[in-house]
Amino acid sequence: MRASPPFRFRLIRLGPCLALALIAAACAPVTQAPHVDPESAKAEAEKQRLLVVERYVADLRRLNAIAFRIFAANADFCREKGKSAGAFGFKVGNAYSFPKDFEAGARRVVGGRGLVRIVAVAPGSPAGRAGMREGDAVLALDGTPAPKGENEAATRDFGKQLAEQVKTGNPIVFRVQRENEEVEFALHPVAACAYGYGIDPKEIVNASADGKSVQITSGMMRFAETDEELATVVGHELAHNLMGHIDSKRGNIALGFLVDLLFAGFGVNTGGVFSDMAGQSYSQEFETEADYVGLYLMARAGYDIAGSPNFWRRMGVRNPGSIRTNHAASHPSAPYRFVSLDKTVEEIERKKAAGLPLRPEMKAEPVPAAAPAGN
Ligand SMILES: [Zn+2]
Repeated sequence: MRASPPFRFRLIRLGPCLALALIAAACAPVTQAPHVDPESAKAEAEKQRLLVVERYVADLRRLNAIAFRIFAANADFCREKGKSAGAFGFKVGNAYSFPKDFEAGARRVVGGRGLVRIVAVAPGSPAGRAGMREGDAVLALDGTPAPKGENEAATRDFGKQLAEQVKTGNPIVFRVQRENEEVEFALHPVAACAYGYGIDPKEIVNASADGKSVQITSGMMRFAETDEELATVVGHELAHNLMGHIDSKRGNIALGFLVDLLFAGFGVNTGGVFSDMAGQSYSQEFETEADYVGLYLMARAGYDIAGSPNFWRRMGVRNPGSIRTNHAASHPSAPYRFVSLDKTVEEIERKKAAGLPLRPEMKAEPVPAAAPAGN
């Protein structure tokens, strides 16, 4: 006869079963939720994807307006670094720049039929002043048919064709389809910093510069509430590129310009390149310099810089770790940053009041030793 196990042992064996039964009872829903049929859920998914595309395009338009203004206002600085090129102030794209899931929504927001569309027009830019509109489909450039096709390559080829024609230095005639009519615009490009800019569709509050372009995350687009705040971020990132803080061997003027035309960031499927870039860290000195030069770039574009120190203060409050002084960190501490920016605002305002040119102060060049007199 088998002896029955001691009571304690039986309890140990029963324990997990009891616990599972209790958990199951505790977790089971007790209310009767409405039945959701798969078709309604599918339709709702489409609606939500459409909203994602709409928000993305709205962000891109906001960024385009601010970045174009800053990039054009600082063309002379960029020219000194060999980084200026002709720009029109628009961004192009098509529905196929988005991942497959989002194509239907993108066709409604951007427009379909395989034509390359004007997706963003910066106010005050050559495109904006000429009356080009978001949604215009480009049919021809200077009489040559514009690339088209139900694929991402059409946008890329358009960028290449336009870059070639810009090199002539002549105005370019754009023929566009607008609803049922065809309209022509002769646009003269203006000089602008030859870096791309785009939206990185991530919710993290971040921005990055890779020597070729400036990327702002969707999260930063929400965090930077006013245009001045977004201009503060764009100025800071442009300063990283301009001051050569990133190894720019991979970049060149033509490519930077192309990235811009190619609607950088419009392709949500950037393959994570920009997120990798965002992980790059720069030294505290470079960060301080980007803050300093960035405010000048912003002021030169006519933006009010008075609120910029407080914007970085808000960043500091959002990330309390940055309030500590940490000399090993890639970014200066938030208090240091605030005080330094506040002094920069004073410096710039003083120059503006005195009618002095708005140029960042450079460290004095070391005086070369006098050459020995020869005979
Ligand atoms: Zn930075």
